[in-house]
Amino acid sequence: MCTHVLAQEGRISSKGYALFSKDGSFQPYEFTRHAIGEHDILIRTMYCGICHSDIHQVHSDWKEETYPIVPGHEIVGEVMQVGSSVSKFKVGDIAGVGCMVNSCRHCEYCKDNQEQYCTDGRVLTYADKDIYHDGEMTQGGYSTNMVIDETFAICIPKDAPLEKIGPLMCAGITTWSPIMQCGIKAGDKVGVAGFGGLGHMAVQYLISLGAEVTVFDITEEKRADAMRLGAKRYVNVTREEDLQDINNTLRFILSTIPTNYNPMMYINILKVGGTLAVVGMPASKETPNISVTALRGRYLTTSIIGGIKETQEVVNYSITHNIYPETTVIPADTSAIDKAYQNVMDGKVKFRYVINLRTIK
Ligand code: NDP
Ligand code: ZN
Repeated sequence: MCTHVLAQEGRISSKGYALFSKDGSFQPYEFTRHAIGEHDILIRTMYCGICHSDIHQVHSDWKEETYPIVPGHEIVGEVMQVGSSVSKFKVGDIAGVGCMVNSCRHCEYCKDNQEQYCTDGRVLTYADKDIYHDGEMTQGGYSTNMVIDETFAICIPKDAPLEKIGPLMCAGITTWSPIMQCGIKAGDKVGVAGFGGLGHMAVQYLISLGAEVTVFDITEEKRADAMRLGAKRYVNVTREEDLQDINNTLRFILSTIPTNYNPMMYINILKVGGTLAVVGMPASKETPNISVTALRGRYLTTSIIGGIKETQEVVNYSITHNIYPETTVIPADTSAIDKAYQNVMDGKVKFRYVINLRTIK
């Protein structure tokens, strides 16, 4: 049993890193999690990825949040304890946790394995009110442990490269799901806009399906990486010459861009009947707008992560096809996490930071 796990009237002690205000920096934070219910497992966190959503959320980019927030929804760790009715996991197994920890299970979307669109009680992994546990705020994976209903935990083989597994449960599923929804197949000419944590997963999935991929970003720094991963073309959108002859050529573009941009540029690049699938979620004050009449036979869709069944599928697919994020592992300390956040915002990460929670002091 992890030394930080001490039962206090059934509650589980946890230690992590939190922001106490939107313009603060990370501070150590000790707190407790709800007791292990009959369907719950206790996970000792090993690694947790840093998603750009963590950065948006701790900065209250989307709405005013309640603090303190321990972020982290790209979590992998070892199962330390199981509730009496748990059947999917046993002690010593490896489990993953993505962006959700619970949902109502009876609405039309939960019944259709799309818990991310639950209309009656979805609970996100952090900074969310846990209506199934007296409304306490959830805290995420930049911490020593998680307590989660086994239904929402993902099974991970023990011999998987564990420092690369966490991002599959956010960056992986978020890009995989719209690729599946749009039925991308071999030979399709497609694009990925924003070549970061999500984008470099999308490129790998699309190439594994046999699609011909054009990558769009704002820097020269990533041109060689895109070609190395198998892209057909790299477009630095800040260079006019890169955009020559590109309009009306692609059937699908996945936008992972986290800031404001001109979506019409991408609509114009699509062929009639093509789809711009938007997963990037810029701050509310930076959300790009599009005129519905400007679509001219192109489709616009958005997508939020993916359901638990599909998350398990993408994890299995990634492991089978050897598709993983390119990661930089950092120690669990406040200055390393602060610096990583700044680097993500400055475009200085290739491609995902992962915190090694086993180094937490
Ligand atoms: P990253 O910061 O890792 O990657 C973003 C990439 O977009 C970077 O390569 C960045 O370039 C590039 N970029 C920035 N501005 C532009 C632009 N105008 N045109 C083209 N490229 C641009 O972020 P993540 O991949 O972790 O997350 C991306 C977005 O997806 C975030 O908004 C996040 O909140 C959202 N997200 C949404 C989810 C969902 O369910 N829909 C789930 C998870 C994340 P550079 O590095 O040079 O700055
Ligand atoms: Zn994420």
